Amino acid sequence: MSVSGETARLVRQRAADRCEYCLMHQSLQGATFHVEHVVPRAKDGPSTAENLAWSCPGCNLHKSDRTMVVDPQTGSGVPLFNPRNDIWQEHFSIRDFEIVGLTEIGRAAVVSLDFNHARRIQIRKAETLFGLFPP
Ligand SMILES: [Zn+2]
Repeated sequence: MSVSGETARLVRQRAADRCEYCLMHQSLQGATFHVEHVVPRAKDGPSTAENLAWSCPGCNLHKSDRTMVVDPQTGSGVPLFNPRNDIWQEHFSIRDFEIVGLTEIGRAAVVSLDFNHARRIQIRKAETLFGLFPP
């Protein structure tokens, strides 16, 4: 089942045009962000608003169909950050232009979704010029 245009608009508005994983804002990006299945379709995740997130292409491609990732500090498998159930500020903080994981879920997401890639740091610096960062 694909996502209707109306559902996609709802997901985008609910996210206020920001990636729900790395918080990048859509407005400075050439590529349109994706309506992403939190629980992937391959794992029977439904195409309803309760299972959808607004995601930048980088986070969506790194996430792929994963729901479990590895905490780099402990080496343990942990659930991937779930923007529908998890509260961003409980798992991450922003230090200068980097996103820091505060919990095992946060640390694992920072690494597995490559939140602090050099290009993303540059985008955050550009976002400050437009009042878009910090979020
Ligand atoms: Zn993102």
